[in-house]
Amino acid sequence: MICLRAKPLIEKTQEYLVKLRRSLNQAPRLDVLLIGNHEASAIYVGRKKQAAQDIGIDVVIHHISDHASQDHVEKLISMLNNESNCSGILLQLPLPAHFNVMKLLTLIDPAKDVDGFHPLNKGNHLDNFAAFVPCTALGVSRLLKFYNINLQSKNVLVLGRSAIVGKPLAIESLHQNATVTIAHSATKNLPDLVKQADIIMSATGHFGVIQWDQVHEHQIIIDVGIHRHNGDIVGDLGKKPAEKIVAAYTPVPGGVGAMTVNSLMYNIFKAYCLQKQSGCWADIAQSIDALTL
Ligand code: NDP
Repeated sequence: MICLRAKPLIEKTQEYLVKLRRSLNQAPRLDVLLIGNHEASAIYVGRKKQAAQDIGIDVVIHHISDHASQDHVEKLISMLNNESNCSGILLQLPLPAHFNVMKLLTLIDPAKDVDGFHPLNKGNHLDNFAAFVPCTALGVSRLLKFYNINLQSKNVLVLGRSAIVGKPLAIESLHQNATVTIAHSATKNLPDLVKQADIIMSATGHFGVIQWDQVHEHQIIIDVGIHRHNGDIVGDLGKKPAEKIVAAYTPVPGGVGAMTVNSLMYNIFKAYCLQKQSGCWADIAQSIDALTL
């Protein structure tokens, strides 16, 4: 049974990115738009900032009042789109209800869309064409590759169909020749689908939709969920009982969440390289890919 810890891959990637950063004339810069006082968002932004600073990426956090207008945020995005020192723009979600999220995401320059949520990047991802892949899906793909888990011809069950997690996970799996089933809140016979899957990727945002006693020793469990349960941070399935055997599983914390942050760093360097030194990204991407071998 393999515990798919993110740490060994993150350490290797960080080491490579620190060297890469030293070789650049200028630091890549991430601009984060943090709107309102959503507690979890502030924690996630803090983690992204720390990870970025650890490898020499500059970070500017635009802390915006939850009373700010749509127009105010649109103007800020337009300004950042035109600022040559800004490599990537991240709109931390969720936003207060009065914002038109889609309009804001669509306004971000696709070349600076390091979260991969712009419709152009989403469409390119769907067609397996050069795109910024959303960080959670990219993180899961990189982690699986690192642990030599090949999705070819595997039955992958993705629980959740959100635009930012579930669908990109399903698309990534499809690109790797898996046979993909997407389950959601209207899916019938979920226990049967769980039984048939080789790999289960759970991103429901609900604790206990599937449970450890439903999965068997030949399955791989990728747990994307993040929950606070009895004082601990756990995934959708909760803490794995010590006696439970599966082929492989991601720990929470230390699995998908950590890979998501690390893959944001990947996307920031990609944005920087594509903007400043077009042509060199292909070699860098190949070197980063080689770290997973
Ligand atoms: P959403 O709430 O947007 O989507 C949840 C999805 O799960 C929906 O598609 C929903 O179906 C589906 N779902 C809900 N209940 C059930 C059920 N009983 N059976 C089957 N499907 C169900 O959440 P997100 O996609 O944004 O996030 C999902 C989880 O991932 C959260 O716990 C979040 O905290 C975590 N997360 C983790 C990240 C990481 O880095 N580890 C990054 C981002 C998110 P329907 O569409 O029908 O409503």
